[in-house]
Amino acid sequence: MDLRSGHPFWILKNGLLADYPSLKHDESCEVAVIGGGITGALIAYQLVREGVETVLVDTRDIGAGSTAASTALLQYEIDTELHELIGLVGEAHAVRSYRLGLEAIDTVERLSGELRDDCGFERKTSLYLASRKSDVSKLRKEYETRKAFGFHVEYWEAKDLKSRASFAAPGAILSYGDAQVDPFRLTHRLIQAAKTEGLRVYDRCEVRKVEPTDSGVVLHTGAGFRVKGRRVVFATGYESQQYLKQNVGDLKSTFALISEPFDSFEGWPDRSLIWESARPYFYLRTTSDDRAIIGGEDVPYATAHENDRLIARKTQKLQRRFSGMFPRLDLEVSYTWAGTFGETEDGLAYIGRTPEFPHAYFALGYGGNGITYSVIAAKIITDLHLGRPNPDADIFRFDR
Ligand SMILES: Cc1cc2nc3c(=O)[nH]c(=O)nc-3n(C[C@H](O)[C@H](O)[C@H](O)COP(=O)(O)OP(=O)(O)OC[C@H]3O[C@@H](n4cnc5c(N)ncnc54)[C@H](O)[C@@H]3O)c2cc1C
Repeated sequence: MDLRSGHPFWILKNGLLADYPSLKHDESCEVAVIGGGITGALIAYQLVREGVETVLVDTRDIGAGSTAASTALLQYEIDTELHELIGLVGEAHAVRSYRLGLEAIDTVERLSGELRDDCGFERKTSLYLASRKSDVSKLRKEYETRKAFGFHVEYWEAKDLKSRASFAAPGAILSYGDAQVDPFRLTHRLIQAAKTEGLRVYDRCEVRKVEPTDSGVVLHTGAGFRVKGRRVVFATGYESQQYLKQNVGDLKSTFALISEPFDSFEGWPDRSLIWESARPYFYLRTTSDDRAIIGGEDVPYATAHENDRLIARKTQKLQRRFSGMFPRLDLEVSYTWAGTFGETEDGLAYIGRTPEFPHAYFALGYGGNGITYSVIAAKIITDLHLGRPNPDADIFRFDR
């Protein structure tokens, strides 16, 4: 499956930060991680730091799957608004999952310190716009709900927005605690750091078959080698459905572009992350080198993004929307790209064990918050593996 098309910015910006050997012998380990995107990187980093002998393999180059295409807004708010999520999964799980999002962003900040590379991490406020007047009452309810549970939020009336921004909306929620990052760089830095602590990494190594045994699993690679592990972690992103009986989400295509650097961001309050109440939503962020990343225009087909003409059409729409919001900013597009994107029914990730794979853990961060879910998955899976209680595991379990 092609996970992405066009020219994702992060690989062009960073170049190939490191490459790794392909597997040319049999391996054995405690935990074998399939997938070297942000999810596999976070999990492998955490496991080796806990002293777990870990091998990571990826059929592509490290970070070159969906992670390279990610626009990497780090938001604790998930695509399902908190008041709606409470209706779907109950107050305790809904509120806890929002709090876990905040904690995950703190974790990325801590990691960027540990790795001695900020990996483009910057704290940001998020501005959530009512897309139309009829969304205002829902937005107010969301604001009241988040405030009631102690999240740091402000409500902006249309007039408050007008005095601060060059664009209008009938209302908005400003939230604190979010951030943005360069996901490709973070992935590479995590894997490099984990390697110095003993992680064995192989790229360009496809796992063709995962064979369960009485005591663990054997991964069979395309080149004919085997990796024996006591446990396997599927950090295989949007290509994971093939391993599961349960349908865990819908795959779609989403589109993005990045601008040339701007001299100023006039009309863009605090260079916040910006998104909206419509679904699918339009969203924006800036970068540490003063560019804007603009995304959205999702369509409900996993591989629609492979169509170049569709990318051109969709990114023109994104440009028009941006120019309408920021008439004083002269948008010059540097690169456009698109990719597969997954959504679950309740907006929550699937993390943990499934009955069909007794020695496996899955880390499927489907949804707009894939990266914060990857952080949450790293903690839950490490705890499960080490036999430590993790009450949050229940929120993301497959049979919820
Ligand atoms: C355009 C776009 C914008 C996005 N914006 C955001 C955002 O703003 N914020 C956010 O949090 N998330 C966002 N996401 C989602 C986010 O990118 C993903 O959640 C995240 O990158 C998933 O990481 P991963 O490591 O699970 O998957 P991947 O990065 O795809 O890594 C999985 C890896 O597994 C490997 N693999 C799969 N099968 C095998 C096999 N059989 N053998 C060996 N290796 C295998 C693949 O090669 C791949 O490298 C966005 C996604 C897209 C496409």
